[in-house]
Amino acid sequence: MHMSTSASAQVATVKLLIGGRFVESKTTQWRDVVNPATQQVLARVPFATGEEIDAAVAAAKQAFGSWRKTAISSRARIFLKYQQLIREHMAELAALLTAEQGKTLPDAEGDVFRGLEVVEHASAIGNLQLGELANNVAAGVDTYSLLQPLGVCAGITPFNFPAMIPLWMFPMAIAAGNTFVLKPSEQDPMVTMRLAELALEAGIPPGVLNVVHGGEDAVNAICDHRDIKAISFVGSTKVGTHVYNRASLAGKRVQCMMGAKNHAIVLPDANKEQTLNAVAGSAFGAAGQRCMAVTVAVLVGEAQQWVADLVAKARALKINAGTEKGADIGPLVSRAARGRVEALIERGVAEGAKLELDGRNPGVPGYEQGNFVGPTIFSGVKPGMSIYEQEIFGPVLCLVGARDLDEAIAFINANPNGNGTAIFTQSGAAARKFQEDIEVGQVGINVPIPVPVPLFSFTGSRASKLGDLGPYGKQVVLFYTQTKTVTARWFDDDVSAHGVNTTISLK
Ligand code: NAD
Repeated sequence: MHMSTSASAQVATVKLLIGGRFVESKTTQWRDVVNPATQQVLARVPFATGEEIDAAVAAAKQAFGSWRKTAISSRARIFLKYQQLIREHMAELAALLTAEQGKTLPDAEGDVFRGLEVVEHASAIGNLQLGELANNVAAGVDTYSLLQPLGVCAGITPFNFPAMIPLWMFPMAIAAGNTFVLKPSEQDPMVTMRLAELALEAGIPPGVLNVVHGGEDAVNAICDHRDIKAISFVGSTKVGTHVYNRASLAGKRVQCMMGAKNHAIVLPDANKEQTLNAVAGSAFGAAGQRCMAVTVAVLVGEAQQWVADLVAKARALKINAGTEKGADIGPLVSRAARGRVEALIERGVAEGAKLELDGRNPGVPGYEQGNFVGPTIFSGVKPGMSIYEQEIFGPVLCLVGARDLDEAIAFINANPNGNGTAIFTQSGAAARKFQEDIEVGQVGINVPIPVPVPLFSFTGSRASKLGDLGPYGKQVVLFYTQTKTVTARWFDDDVSAHGVNTTISLK
Protein backbone atom coordinates (compact mmCIF):
# COMPACT_ATOMS: atom_id res chain seq x y z
CA MET A 1 0.00 0.00 0.00
CA HIS A 2 1.30 3.44 -0.91
CA MET A 3 0.83 5.54 2.21
CA SER A 4 2.20 8.93 3.06
CA THR A 5 1.71 11.65 5.59
CA SER A 6 1.22 14.59 3.25
CA ALA A 7 -0.48 15.45 -0.02
CA SER A 8 2.09 15.88 -2.77
CA ALA A 9 1.81 19.11 -4.74
CA GLN A 10 1.94 17.40 -8.15
CA VAL A 11 -0.91 14.97 -7.72
CA ALA A 12 -4.59 15.88 -7.42
CA THR A 13 -6.25 15.18 -4.11
CA VAL A 14 -9.60 13.51 -3.68
CA LYS A 15 -11.95 15.80 -1.78
CA LEU A 16 -14.43 15.14 0.99
CA LEU A 17 -18.05 16.16 0.41
CA ILE A 18 -19.46 17.76 3.55
CA GLY A 19 -22.58 19.92 3.70
CA GLY A 20 -22.68 20.46 -0.06
CA ARG A 21 -19.03 21.52 -0.41
CA PHE A 22 -16.09 19.59 -1.80
CA VAL A 23 -13.34 20.25 0.72
CA GLU A 24 -9.71 19.32 1.20
CA SER A 25 -9.10 17.04 4.17
CA LYS A 26 -6.93 18.27 7.02
CA THR A 27 -5.65 14.77 7.67
CA THR A 28 -1.97 13.83 7.76
CA GLN A 29 -2.67 10.35 6.35
CA TRP A 30 -2.98 9.86 2.59
CA ARG A 31 -2.95 6.95 0.18
CA ASP A 32 -2.15 6.88 -3.52
CA VAL A 33 -4.81 5.95 -6.04
CA VAL A 34 -2.86 3.92 -8.58
CA ASN A 35 -3.59 2.92 -12.17
CA PRO A 36 -3.35 -0.91 -12.02
CA ALA A 37 -2.16 -1.21 -15.62
CA THR A 38 0.68 1.32 -15.38
CA GLN A 39 1.28 2.06 -11.65
CA GLN A 40 0.83 5.76 -12.43
CA VAL A 41 -0.36 7.65 -9.33
CA LEU A 42 -3.64 9.25 -10.37
CA ALA A 43 -4.55 11.03 -7.15
CA ARG A 44 -4.17 10.92 -3.40
CA VAL A 45 -7.04 10.02 -1.15
CA PRO A 46 -7.24 11.26 2.43
CA PHE A 47 -8.08 9.17 5.48
CA ALA A 48 -10.57 11.58 6.99
CA THR A 49 -10.13 12.66 10.59
CA GLY A 50 -12.68 11.89 13.30
CA GLU A 51 -13.76 15.55 13.26
CA GLU A 52 -14.36 15.43 9.52
CA ILE A 53 -16.51 12.33 9.85
CA ASP A 54 -18.45 13.99 12.67
CA ALA A 55 -18.91 17.08 10.47
CA ALA A 56 -20.27 14.95 7.61
CA VAL A 57 -22.76 13.22 9.93
CA ALA A 58 -23.75 16.55 11.50
CA ALA A 59 -24.39 18.04 8.03
CA ALA A 60 -26.53 15.03 7.14
CA LYS A 61 -28.44 15.27 10.42
CA GLN A 62 -29.14 18.94 9.87
CA ALA A 63 -30.26 18.43 6.27
CA PHE A 64 -32.65 15.65 7.29
CA GLY A 65 -35.03 18.13 8.96
CA SER A 66 -36.12 19.70 5.68
CA TRP A 67 -35.31 16.84 3.28
CA ARG A 68 -37.74 14.45 4.97
CA LYS A 69 -40.53 16.98 4.40
CA THR A 70 -39.62 17.58 0.76
CA ALA A 71 -42.43 16.53 -1.60
CA ILE A 72 -42.01 13.04 -2.96
CA SER A 73 -42.31 14.32 -6.54
CA SER A 74 -39.49 16.83 -5.94
CA ARG A 75 -37.28 14.05 -4.62
CA ALA A 76 -38.17 11.80 -7.55
CA ARG A 77 -37.50 14.56 -10.10
CA ILE A 78 -33.89 14.92 -8.89
CA PHE A 79 -33.27 11.27 -9.76
CA LEU A 80 -34.85 11.73 -13.20
CA LYS A 81 -32.34 14.51 -13.79
CA TYR A 82 -29.54 12.47 -12.25
CA GLN A 83 -30.09 9.48 -14.54
CA GLN A 84 -29.93 11.83 -17.52
CA LEU A 85 -26.65 13.35 -16.31
CA ILE A 86 -25.11 9.91 -15.78
CA ARG A 87 -26.10 8.91 -19.32
CA GLU A 88 -24.57 12.09 -20.73
CA HIS A 89 -21.31 11.45 -18.85
CA MET A 90 -21.14 7.70 -19.45
CA ALA A 91 -17.89 7.72 -21.47
CA GLU A 92 -16.13 10.03 -19.02
CA LEU A 93 -17.26 7.96 -16.02
CA ALA A 94 -16.17 4.69 -17.66
CA ALA A 95 -12.74 6.12 -18.52
CA LEU A 96 -12.21 7.29 -14.95
CA LEU A 97 -13.31 3.92 -13.62
CA THR A 98 -11.00 1.97 -15.92
CA ALA A 99 -8.05 4.19 -15.05
CA GLU A 100 -8.30 3.58 -11.32
CA GLN A 101 -9.84 0.09 -11.19
CA GLY A 102 -8.48 -1.65 -14.29
CA LYS A 103 -11.56 -3.32 -15.82
CA THR A 104 -12.10 -2.94 -19.56
CA LEU A 105 -13.92 0.13 -20.86
CA PRO A 106 -17.04 -1.81 -21.98
CA ASP A 107 -17.17 -3.51 -18.58
CA ALA A 108 -16.72 -0.13 -16.85
CA GLU A 109 -19.72 1.14 -18.81
CA GLY A 110 -21.59 -1.92 -17.57
CA ASP A 111 -20.59 -1.02 -13.99
CA VAL A 112 -22.02 2.49 -14.42
CA PHE A 113 -25.06 1.19 -16.26
CA ARG A 114 -26.06 -1.32 -13.56
CA GLY A 115 -25.93 1.58 -11.09
CA LEU A 116 -27.87 3.83 -13.45
CA GLU A 117 -30.70 1.28 -13.40
CA VAL A 118 -31.01 1.82 -9.65
CA VAL A 119 -31.09 5.59 -10.15
CA GLU A 120 -33.97 5.11 -12.61
CA HIS A 121 -35.67 2.94 -10.02
CA ALA A 122 -35.20 5.63 -7.36
CA SER A 123 -37.17 8.04 -9.52
CA ALA A 124 -40.16 5.69 -9.07
CA ILE A 125 -40.05 6.24 -5.29
CA GLY A 126 -43.62 7.58 -5.30
CA ASN A 127 -44.93 4.10 -6.06
CA LEU A 128 -42.37 2.27 -3.96
CA GLN A 129 -42.94 4.17 -0.73
CA LEU A 130 -46.72 3.88 -0.70
CA GLY A 131 -48.30 2.78 2.55
CA GLU A 132 -51.39 0.60 2.95
CA LEU A 133 -54.85 1.37 4.26
CA ALA A 134 -57.48 -0.96 5.65
CA ASN A 135 -60.88 0.63 5.82
CA ASN A 136 -63.26 -0.12 8.76
CA VAL A 137 -60.99 -2.38 10.79
CA ALA A 138 -63.67 -1.71 13.42
CA ALA A 139 -66.79 0.36 13.08
CA GLY A 140 -65.61 3.83 12.03
CA VAL A 141 -61.95 2.92 12.43
CA ASP A 142 -59.29 2.82 9.69
CA THR A 143 -55.68 1.62 9.92
CA TYR A 144 -53.01 2.83 7.57
CA SER A 145 -49.25 2.66 7.35
CA LEU A 146 -46.59 5.29 6.68
CA LEU A 147 -43.10 4.38 5.50
CA GLN A 148 -41.05 7.11 7.14
CA PRO A 149 -37.36 7.81 6.51
CA LEU A 150 -34.97 6.90 9.32
CA GLY A 151 -32.58 9.87 9.35
CA VAL A 152 -28.87 9.68 8.58
CA CYS A 153 -27.93 6.47 6.77
CA ALA A 154 -24.46 5.36 5.70
CA GLY A 155 -22.89 3.24 2.97
CA ILE A 156 -19.52 1.48 2.90
CA THR A 157 -18.46 0.16 -0.50
CA PRO A 158 -15.82 -2.17 -2.02
CA PHE A 159 -13.31 -1.54 -4.80
CA ASN A 160 -14.72 -3.86 -7.43
CA PHE A 161 -17.80 -1.87 -8.50
CA PRO A 162 -16.96 1.74 -7.64
CA ALA A 163 -19.93 3.09 -9.64
CA MET A 164 -22.64 0.44 -9.30
CA ILE A 165 -22.42 -0.25 -5.59
CA PRO A 166 -22.46 3.38 -4.34
CA LEU A 167 -25.44 3.78 -6.70
CA TRP A 168 -27.13 0.75 -5.08
CA MET A 169 -27.10 2.76 -1.87
CA PHE A 170 -27.47 6.53 -1.74
CA PRO A 171 -30.10 7.06 -4.48
CA MET A 172 -32.67 4.77 -2.84
CA ALA A 173 -31.88 6.00 0.68
CA ILE A 174 -32.14 9.65 -0.33
CA ALA A 175 -35.20 9.19 -2.55
CA ALA A 176 -36.94 7.66 0.49
CA GLY A 177 -36.27 10.88 2.44
CA ASN A 178 -33.06 10.02 4.33
CA THR A 179 -29.74 11.81 4.23
CA PHE A 180 -26.53 9.94 3.60
CA VAL A 181 -22.84 9.55 4.41
CA LEU A 182 -20.92 7.42 1.91
CA LYS A 183 -17.49 5.88 2.53
CA PRO A 184 -16.20 4.58 -0.83
CA SER A 185 -13.30 2.18 -1.26
CA GLU A 186 -10.01 3.95 -0.69
CA GLN A 187 -8.57 2.02 -3.65
CA ASP A 188 -10.69 3.68 -6.35
CA PRO A 189 -12.70 6.65 -5.05
CA MET A 190 -12.45 8.90 -8.12
CA VAL A 191 -15.39 7.71 -10.20
CA THR A 192 -17.52 7.68 -7.04
CA MET A 193 -16.62 11.34 -6.45
CA ARG A 194 -17.55 12.25 -10.03
CA LEU A 195 -20.92 10.56 -9.43
CA ALA A 196 -21.30 12.63 -6.25
CA GLU A 197 -20.60 15.83 -8.23
CA LEU A 198 -23.27 14.88 -10.76
CA ALA A 199 -25.70 14.10 -7.93
CA LEU A 200 -25.29 17.65 -6.63
CA GLU A 201 -25.66 19.01 -10.15
CA ALA A 202 -28.93 17.07 -10.42
CA GLY A 203 -30.24 19.00 -7.43
CA ILE A 204 -29.47 16.99 -4.31
CA PRO A 205 -29.43 19.73 -1.65
CA PRO A 206 -26.39 20.50 0.57
CA GLY A 207 -25.92 17.98 3.38
CA VAL A 208 -28.26 15.36 1.90
CA LEU A 209 -25.32 13.45 0.38
CA ASN A 210 -21.91 13.54 2.08
CA VAL A 211 -18.76 11.54 1.26
CA VAL A 212 -15.87 10.74 3.57
CA HIS A 213 -12.79 8.67 2.78
CA GLY A 214 -10.66 6.27 4.75
CA GLY A 215 -10.28 2.67 5.83
CA GLU A 216 -10.75 0.79 9.07
CA ASP A 217 -10.92 3.85 11.35
CA ALA A 218 -13.52 5.62 9.20
CA VAL A 219 -15.62 2.46 9.05
CA ASN A 220 -15.45 1.98 12.81
CA ALA A 221 -16.41 5.62 13.37
CA ILE A 222 -19.46 5.11 11.15
CA CYS A 223 -20.42 1.90 12.99
CA ASP A 224 -20.21 3.68 16.35
CA HIS A 225 -21.74 7.05 15.47
CA ARG A 226 -24.93 7.53 17.43
CA ASP A 227 -26.56 9.77 14.82
CA ILE A 228 -26.32 7.14 12.06
CA LYS A 229 -29.43 4.97 11.96
CA ALA A 230 -28.69 2.40 9.25
CA ILE A 231 -25.64 1.06 7.43
CA SER A 232 -25.44 -0.72 4.11
CA PHE A 233 -22.10 -2.50 3.63
CA VAL A 234 -20.71 -4.35 0.63
CA GLY A 235 -17.30 -6.01 0.83
CA SER A 236 -15.49 -9.05 2.13
CA THR A 237 -17.03 -11.48 4.61
CA LYS A 238 -14.38 -10.72 7.22
CA VAL A 239 -14.97 -6.96 7.25
CA GLY A 240 -18.73 -7.32 6.73
CA THR A 241 -19.07 -9.58 9.77
CA HIS A 242 -17.12 -7.05 11.84
CA VAL A 243 -19.32 -4.18 10.60
CA TYR A 244 -22.50 -6.17 11.24
CA ASN A 245 -21.54 -7.03 14.80
CA ARG A 246 -20.18 -3.63 15.72
CA ALA A 247 -23.01 -1.59 14.21
CA SER A 248 -25.74 -3.95 15.48
CA LEU A 249 -24.36 -3.61 19.00
CA ALA A 250 -24.57 0.16 18.56
CA GLY A 251 -28.28 -0.30 17.80
CA LYS A 252 -28.29 0.29 14.05
CA ARG A 253 -29.99 -1.45 11.21
CA VAL A 254 -27.31 -3.19 9.17
CA GLN A 255 -27.25 -5.09 5.90
CA CYS A 256 -23.97 -6.65 4.75
CA MET A 257 -23.52 -8.10 1.29
CA MET A 258 -20.29 -10.11 1.47
CA GLY A 259 -17.96 -12.65 -0.09
CA ALA A 260 -18.80 -15.62 -2.24
CA LYS A 261 -17.88 -18.88 -3.89
CA ASN A 262 -20.28 -19.28 -6.77
CA HIS A 263 -20.82 -22.65 -8.41
CA ALA A 264 -22.23 -23.40 -11.85
CA ILE A 265 -23.55 -26.86 -12.68
CA VAL A 266 -22.93 -27.96 -16.25
CA LEU A 267 -25.15 -30.85 -17.33
CA PRO A 268 -24.14 -32.87 -20.40
CA ASP A 269 -27.36 -31.90 -22.22
CA ALA A 270 -26.44 -28.18 -22.09
CA ASN A 271 -25.74 -26.23 -25.26
CA LYS A 272 -21.98 -26.74 -25.17
CA GLU A 273 -20.79 -23.65 -27.05
CA GLN A 274 -23.09 -21.23 -25.20
CA THR A 275 -22.29 -22.82 -21.86
CA LEU A 276 -18.51 -22.71 -22.22
CA ASN A 277 -18.72 -19.08 -23.38
CA ALA A 278 -20.88 -18.20 -20.39
CA VAL A 279 -18.66 -19.98 -17.86
CA ALA A 280 -15.45 -18.45 -19.26
CA GLY A 281 -16.99 -14.96 -19.44
CA SER A 282 -18.23 -15.16 -15.88
CA ALA A 283 -15.08 -16.72 -14.38
CA PHE A 284 -12.53 -14.48 -16.09
CA GLY A 285 -14.40 -11.23 -16.86
CA ALA A 286 -13.27 -8.29 -14.70
CA ALA A 287 -10.26 -10.51 -13.91
CA GLY A 288 -12.51 -12.52 -11.60
CA GLN A 289 -13.09 -9.56 -9.31
CA ARG A 290 -16.87 -9.89 -9.17
CA CYS A 291 -18.76 -11.18 -6.17
CA MET A 292 -21.06 -13.01 -8.60
CA ALA A 293 -18.34 -14.55 -10.79
CA VAL A 294 -18.62 -18.29 -11.35
CA THR A 295 -15.51 -19.60 -9.62
CA VAL A 296 -16.38 -23.30 -9.43
CA ALA A 297 -17.83 -25.29 -12.32
CA VAL A 298 -19.37 -28.62 -11.37
CA LEU A 299 -19.16 -30.75 -14.51
CA VAL A 300 -21.71 -33.54 -14.46
CA GLY A 301 -21.22 -36.88 -16.21
CA GLU A 302 -20.00 -36.53 -19.79
CA ALA A 303 -19.58 -32.77 -19.41
CA GLN A 304 -16.34 -33.68 -17.61
CA GLN A 305 -14.89 -34.23 -21.07
CA TRP A 306 -15.32 -30.54 -21.95
CA VAL A 307 -12.25 -29.39 -20.03
CA ALA A 308 -9.98 -29.06 -23.10
CA ASP A 309 -12.60 -26.95 -24.91
CA LEU A 310 -13.01 -24.73 -21.87
CA VAL A 311 -9.23 -24.27 -21.65
CA ALA A 312 -9.18 -23.29 -25.34
CA LYS A 313 -11.87 -20.64 -24.74
CA ALA A 314 -9.96 -19.25 -21.76
CA ARG A 315 -6.68 -19.20 -23.67
CA ALA A 316 -8.26 -17.14 -26.45
CA LEU A 317 -9.20 -14.27 -24.12
CA LYS A 318 -7.07 -11.15 -24.60
CA ILE A 319 -5.26 -9.81 -21.56
CA ASN A 320 -4.47 -6.14 -21.84
CA ALA A 321 -4.93 -2.74 -20.22
CA GLY A 322 -8.65 -2.00 -19.93
CA THR A 323 -8.24 1.00 -22.21
CA GLU A 324 -6.92 -1.08 -25.12
CA LYS A 325 -9.37 -2.08 -27.86
CA GLY A 326 -10.29 -5.74 -27.82
CA ALA A 327 -9.10 -6.33 -24.25
CA ASP A 328 -11.15 -9.02 -22.52
CA ILE A 329 -9.35 -9.02 -19.18
CA GLY A 330 -7.63 -6.10 -17.48
CA PRO A 331 -5.23 -6.11 -14.53
CA LEU A 332 -6.05 -6.93 -10.92
CA VAL A 333 -6.69 -3.86 -8.81
CA SER A 334 -3.36 -3.76 -6.95
CA ARG A 335 0.05 -5.37 -6.67
CA ALA A 336 -1.08 -6.85 -3.37
CA ALA A 337 -4.11 -8.44 -5.03
CA ARG A 338 -1.89 -9.89 -7.76
CA GLY A 339 0.52 -11.31 -5.18
CA ARG A 340 -2.34 -12.88 -3.25
CA VAL A 341 -3.85 -14.53 -6.32
CA GLU A 342 -0.47 -15.86 -7.47
CA ALA A 343 0.20 -17.29 -4.01
CA LEU A 344 -3.16 -19.07 -4.05
CA ILE A 345 -2.38 -20.58 -7.48
CA GLU A 346 0.90 -21.82 -6.02
CA ARG A 347 -0.97 -23.40 -3.12
CA GLY A 348 -3.45 -25.03 -5.47
CA VAL A 349 -0.56 -26.81 -7.17
CA ALA A 350 1.05 -27.71 -3.83
CA GLU A 351 -2.23 -29.10 -2.48
CA GLY A 352 -2.66 -31.43 -5.43
CA ALA A 353 -5.11 -29.81 -7.85
CA LYS A 354 -4.25 -30.17 -11.55
CA LEU A 355 -3.26 -26.86 -13.18
CA GLU A 356 -4.90 -27.08 -16.62
CA LEU A 357 -4.07 -23.48 -17.54
CA ASP A 358 -1.56 -21.24 -15.75
CA GLY A 359 -2.28 -17.51 -16.15
CA ARG A 360 0.65 -16.24 -14.11
CA ASN A 361 2.99 -13.69 -15.69
CA PRO A 362 1.10 -13.35 -18.95
CA GLY A 363 3.39 -10.62 -20.30
CA VAL A 364 1.49 -7.66 -21.69
CA PRO A 365 3.63 -5.58 -24.07
CA GLY A 366 3.60 -1.90 -23.18
CA TYR A 367 2.20 -2.63 -19.70
CA GLU A 368 5.07 -4.53 -18.10
CA GLN A 369 4.27 -2.97 -14.71
CA GLY A 370 0.58 -4.00 -14.77
CA ASN A 371 -0.96 -6.32 -12.17
CA PHE A 372 -1.91 -8.93 -14.75
CA VAL A 373 -2.90 -12.53 -14.12
CA GLY A 374 -4.48 -14.39 -17.03
CA PRO A 375 -7.20 -17.05 -16.96
CA THR A 376 -6.20 -19.96 -14.76
CA ILE A 377 -8.02 -23.30 -14.55
CA PHE A 378 -7.64 -26.09 -12.02
CA SER A 379 -9.29 -29.49 -12.28
CA GLY A 380 -9.59 -32.15 -9.60
CA VAL A 381 -10.37 -29.50 -6.98
CA LYS A 382 -11.60 -30.78 -3.62
CA PRO A 383 -13.08 -29.23 -0.48
CA GLY A 384 -10.30 -28.56 1.99
CA MET A 385 -7.94 -27.14 -0.65
CA SER A 386 -7.19 -23.43 -0.19
CA ILE A 387 -8.33 -22.62 -3.74
CA TYR A 388 -11.74 -24.08 -2.87
CA GLU A 389 -12.09 -22.77 0.67
CA GLN A 390 -11.03 -19.17 -0.03
CA GLU A 391 -12.59 -16.54 -2.25
CA ILE A 392 -9.70 -16.03 -4.70
CA PHE A 393 -11.06 -12.84 -6.31
CA GLY A 394 -8.91 -13.36 -9.38
CA PRO A 395 -9.33 -15.08 -12.77
CA VAL A 396 -9.09 -18.60 -11.37
CA LEU A 397 -11.70 -21.26 -12.14
CA CYS A 398 -11.93 -24.50 -10.15
CA LEU A 399 -13.41 -27.58 -11.82
CA VAL A 400 -14.99 -30.44 -9.92
CA GLY A 401 -16.77 -33.51 -11.24
CA ALA A 402 -20.10 -34.99 -10.19
CA ARG A 403 -21.92 -38.16 -11.24
CA ASP A 404 -25.38 -36.64 -11.44
CA LEU A 405 -27.49 -33.59 -10.63
CA ASP A 406 -28.27 -34.73 -7.08
CA GLU A 407 -24.58 -35.07 -6.27
CA ALA A 408 -23.87 -31.64 -7.80
CA ILE A 409 -26.65 -29.96 -5.79
CA ALA A 410 -25.48 -31.63 -2.56
CA PHE A 411 -21.92 -30.44 -3.24
CA ILE A 412 -23.03 -26.81 -3.64
CA ASN A 413 -25.34 -26.92 -0.63
CA ALA A 414 -22.42 -28.13 1.50
CA ASN A 415 -20.55 -24.89 0.74
CA PRO A 416 -21.42 -22.16 3.25
CA ASN A 417 -21.72 -19.30 0.72
CA GLY A 418 -24.96 -18.28 -0.92
CA ASN A 419 -24.36 -15.35 -3.24
CA GLY A 420 -25.03 -16.84 -6.67
CA THR A 421 -25.24 -20.08 -8.61
CA ALA A 422 -26.22 -21.24 -12.08
CA ILE A 423 -27.21 -24.32 -14.00
CA PHE A 424 -26.62 -24.98 -17.68
CA THR A 425 -29.03 -27.46 -19.19
CA GLN A 426 -31.70 -27.87 -21.86
CA SER A 427 -33.90 -29.77 -19.41
CA GLY A 428 -36.71 -27.81 -17.78
CA ALA A 429 -37.18 -30.54 -15.22
CA ALA A 430 -33.52 -30.42 -14.16
CA ALA A 431 -33.59 -26.61 -13.97
CA ARG A 432 -36.78 -26.69 -11.91
CA LYS A 433 -35.33 -29.21 -9.48
CA PHE A 434 -32.20 -27.04 -9.16
CA GLN A 435 -34.14 -23.83 -8.49
CA GLU A 436 -36.22 -25.66 -5.91
CA ASP A 437 -33.46 -27.48 -3.99
CA ILE A 438 -30.40 -25.24 -4.23
CA GLU A 439 -29.69 -23.27 -1.05
CA VAL A 440 -28.32 -20.14 -2.73
CA GLY A 441 -30.13 -16.81 -2.89
CA GLN A 442 -29.58 -15.91 -6.57
CA VAL A 443 -30.06 -18.54 -9.23
CA GLY A 444 -29.26 -18.41 -12.93
CA ILE A 445 -30.75 -20.81 -15.45
CA ASN A 446 -28.42 -20.67 -18.46
CA VAL A 447 -27.46 -17.23 -17.08
CA PRO A 448 -23.99 -17.11 -15.51
CA ILE A 449 -24.19 -13.87 -13.48
CA PRO A 450 -27.75 -13.72 -12.17
CA VAL A 451 -27.68 -10.23 -10.60
CA PRO A 452 -31.33 -9.16 -10.54
CA VAL A 453 -32.45 -5.84 -12.04
CA PRO A 454 -33.72 -3.28 -9.49
CA LEU A 455 -37.37 -4.32 -9.85
CA PHE A 456 -36.16 -7.13 -7.58
CA SER A 457 -33.53 -7.04 -4.84
CA PHE A 458 -30.02 -8.45 -4.65
CA THR A 459 -30.75 -11.57 -2.65
CA GLY A 460 -27.50 -13.29 -1.73
CA SER A 461 -27.96 -15.61 1.23
CA ARG A 462 -26.31 -17.74 3.93
CA ALA A 463 -22.65 -16.82 4.60
CA SER A 464 -22.70 -14.19 1.82
CA LYS A 465 -25.24 -12.02 3.63
CA LEU A 466 -25.99 -10.62 7.07
CA GLY A 467 -29.20 -8.74 7.77
CA ASP A 468 -32.43 -9.65 6.10
CA LEU A 469 -33.26 -7.04 3.47
CA GLY A 470 -31.46 -6.52 0.15
CA PRO A 471 -29.65 -3.41 -1.09
CA TYR A 472 -32.08 -2.24 -3.79
CA GLY A 473 -35.54 -3.02 -5.14
CA LYS A 474 -38.60 -3.08 -2.92
CA GLN A 475 -36.68 -4.56 -0.01
CA VAL A 476 -34.43 -1.55 0.38
CA VAL A 477 -37.40 0.78 0.79
CA LEU A 478 -38.25 -1.21 3.91
CA PHE A 479 -34.60 -1.14 4.99
CA TYR A 480 -34.39 2.65 4.72
CA THR A 481 -37.78 3.38 6.34
CA GLN A 482 -39.61 2.79 9.58
CA THR A 483 -43.12 1.47 9.12
CA LYS A 484 -45.52 3.41 11.29
CA THR A 485 -49.12 2.26 11.53
CA VAL A 486 -51.90 4.66 12.40
CA THR A 487 -55.26 3.49 13.70
CA ALA A 488 -57.75 6.34 13.53
CA ARG A 489 -61.30 7.03 14.52
CA TRP A 490 -63.02 10.33 13.88
CA PHE A 491 -66.00 10.92 16.14
CA ASP A 492 -69.23 11.90 14.61
CA ASP A 493 -70.84 14.50 16.87
CA ASP A 494 -74.31 12.97 16.34
CA VAL A 495 -73.45 9.51 17.59
CA SER A 496 -73.93 8.96 21.30
CA ALA A 497 -70.87 7.96 23.30
CA HIS A 498 -70.12 4.21 23.82
CA GLY A 499 -68.97 4.63 27.37
CA VAL A 500 -65.58 3.55 28.69
CA ASN A 501 -64.04 0.52 26.90
CA THR A 502 -61.60 -1.30 29.18
CA THR A 503 -60.87 -4.15 26.72
CA ILE A 504 -58.28 -4.37 23.98
CA SER A 505 -60.94 -4.62 21.25
CA LEU A 506 -61.63 -1.76 18.89
CA LYS A 507 -65.31 -1.20 19.63
P1 NAD B 1 -13.09 -5.07 1.76
O1 NAD B 1 -13.92 -5.82 2.74
O2 NAD B 1 -11.62 -5.13 1.86
O3 NAD B 1 -13.47 -3.51 1.78
C1 NAD B 1 -14.81 -3.08 1.83
C2 NAD B 1 -14.88 -1.78 2.59
O4 NAD B 1 -14.47 -2.01 3.95
C3 NAD B 1 -13.98 -0.70 2.03
O5 NAD B 1 -14.67 0.53 2.02
C4 NAD B 1 -12.79 -0.69 2.99
O6 NAD B 1 -12.24 0.59 3.15
C5 NAD B 1 -13.39 -1.15 4.29
N1 NAD B 1 -12.43 -1.92 5.11
C6 NAD B 1 -11.37 -2.65 4.68
N2 NAD B 1 -10.75 -3.23 5.71
C7 NAD B 1 -11.41 -2.88 6.83
C8 NAD B 1 -11.26 -3.19 8.22
N3 NAD B 1 -10.28 -3.97 8.64
N4 NAD B 1 -12.15 -2.67 9.07
C9 NAD B 1 -13.15 -1.89 8.66
N5 NAD B 1 -13.34 -1.56 7.36
C10 NAD B 1 -12.49 -2.05 6.45
O7 NAD B 1 -13.60 -5.56 0.30
P2 NAD B 1 -12.95 -5.24 -1.11
O8 NAD B 1 -11.67 -6.00 -1.24
O9 NAD B 1 -12.95 -3.79 -1.37
O10 NAD B 1 -14.05 -5.89 -2.08
C11 NAD B 1 -14.05 -7.24 -2.46
C12 NAD B 1 -14.97 -8.05 -1.59
O11 NAD B 1 -16.29 -7.53 -1.66
C13 NAD B 1 -15.08 -9.49 -2.04
O12 NAD B 1 -15.12 -10.33 -0.92
C14 NAD B 1 -16.43 -9.53 -2.77
O13 NAD B 1 -17.05 -10.78 -2.82
C15 NAD B 1 -17.21 -8.57 -1.95
N6 NAD B 1 -18.35 -8.06 -2.70
C16 NAD B 1 -19.58 -8.53 -2.37
C17 NAD B 1 -20.69 -8.10 -3.09
C18 NAD B 1 -22.06 -8.59 -2.76
O14 NAD B 1 -23.01 -7.99 -3.21
N7 NAD B 1 -22.21 -9.65 -1.99
C19 NAD B 1 -20.52 -7.18 -4.13
C20 NAD B 1 -19.23 -6.72 -4.41
C21 NAD B 1 -18.15 -7.16 -3.68
